[in-house]
Amino acid sequence: MSLPPLPFDPSCCLIAGEWLPPQSLEKLELANPSDGSILTEIASGNSADIDAAVTNASHAFEQCWSVTPAAERGRVLVDLGRLVLKNIDLLAKLEALDVGKPLTQAQADVKALARYMEFYGGAADKVHGETIPYLEGYTVYTLREPHGVTGHIVPWNYPMQIIGRSVGAALAMGNTCVLKPAEEACLTALAFANLAIEAGLPKGVLNVVPGLGASAGAALCAHKGINHISFTGSVATGRLVQAAAASNIVPVTLELGGKSPQLFFEDANLENALPFLVNAGIQNGGQTCSASSRILVHRSRYDEVIDHMSQKYKDLIARPAIEDGALGPLISKRQKSIVEGFIDKGQNLSLVAQGDIHSNAPSEGHYVAPRLFADVSEDHILAKDEIFGPVQVIIPFDTEEEALNIANGTDYGLVASIWTNDGARQMRLAKKLRSGQVFINNYGAGGGVELPFGGRGLSGHGREKGFEALFGFSTLKTVASYHQ
Ligand code: NAD
Repeated sequence: MSLPPLPFDPSCCLIAGEWLPPQSLEKLELANPSDGSILTEIASGNSADIDAAVTNASHAFEQCWSVTPAAERGRVLVDLGRLVLKNIDLLAKLEALDVGKPLTQAQADVKALARYMEFYGGAADKVHGETIPYLEGYTVYTLREPHGVTGHIVPWNYPMQIIGRSVGAALAMGNTCVLKPAEEACLTALAFANLAIEAGLPKGVLNVVPGLGASAGAALCAHKGINHISFTGSVATGRLVQAAAASNIVPVTLELGGKSPQLFFEDANLENALPFLVNAGIQNGGQTCSASSRILVHRSRYDEVIDHMSQKYKDLIARPAIEDGALGPLISKRQKSIVEGFIDKGQNLSLVAQGDIHSNAPSEGHYVAPRLFADVSEDHILAKDEIFGPVQVIIPFDTEEEALNIANGTDYGLVASIWTNDGARQMRLAKKLRSGQVFINNYGAGGGVELPFGGRGLSGHGREKGFEALFGFSTLKTVASYHQ
């Protein structure tokens, strides 16, 4: 399937409001994960393009965006959100073709991007400092100020949602941005930036440099003109990003994935839980940082849960994104082989259910049939490592304490959910789970623009989404005035 006509040149970078070819003139091929065909060429930006983007973002910060009234910044973001919704068909199609995401899920991502613009647009003029009682003769107050130029490194799994939460919050606080989208999927980043110009975002406030992580991404993190870095991706790259930030002493937000559990207790309502138990693991082909890949079930309900989840797995048929099934292909041949490597490690486990690949799915696409393994011990690699594919494990437990220990037993800590009607248990576990978000009798998969989101341990640090992100994308100045 070919790309629809685009109102911008996808082989260019966006720098200071102009679509410019990369200075090296080098290009990368962008593939369609559903059939392996080449969709288009994109710019392979390098340190020269990053330098131009940072210089222009710095100029735009000083001359324009940092002195634009907060209400006006908010208005531009709200207008941008409306434009995003107006272009839902194009954006959803691009995301489906580029990421391999089923069309309905891609449409939901467009709506989330629009909602981020609405939320952060509305919040832009509602973040303020405070006055602090101090010694006689003093007036003390705090000011929330933008960092300056912020760098945003975005992965391929949810480009629009991640751009919405990080770029949206950064712009609302008066920062300017240099965005490095993933080399595997960057079309909606470019389309969004084009809409931002149409919405009236001044030139140079949002710059986009596509390219490889090791060149464009590394150059962005190392650039001395960057005042804050927001990164979402793998733990290995997160370490490099944090090291680069440390060398320039700039703040960094890392969102690195997880191994998120759902704890299903003896009194839980299975009918309510079932869609969450399965979908939270399989959504986006399991390529979700907050995917629920571990299902912990009280032994008294164990067989029943396996039975019902297995029934659901029969409907999990991977097919081309544009055909809008339960799941599409994985992003790349490499990701498929990583996931198949994990599945091979489950050979001696009990495979209780398996989805399928549609017979029409092109053989060059990167399809993997979903798998559900049961009786998995908590220290098996499938129960400990992030797989980032459509694979879930079920682990039995006998007591609340045991469930808690298993849930907290990985190096990650992003999202957890508790299925029980016992209020005291809900409160106890919500406190004790080592996790950035805890859901009770639901599972948000990181969802909710308003809800602060981020991890503990290997899941990273810093918070995005909600008002909390606005604090992260700003710095606090204390002013103490002495006046007798
Ligand atoms: P990655 O961390 O390599 O890529 C994420 C982003 O970082 C991309 O934009 C990439 O270009 C950039 N990047 C890569 N190297 C960089 C560097 N040295 N400096 C700066 N930026 C750099 O992730 P991946 O290779 O695309 O995926 C590998 C694994 O990462 C997956 O299997 C999955 O476990 C995890 N992952 C997690 C998330 C998440 O949402 N937390 C998203 C994507 C991937």
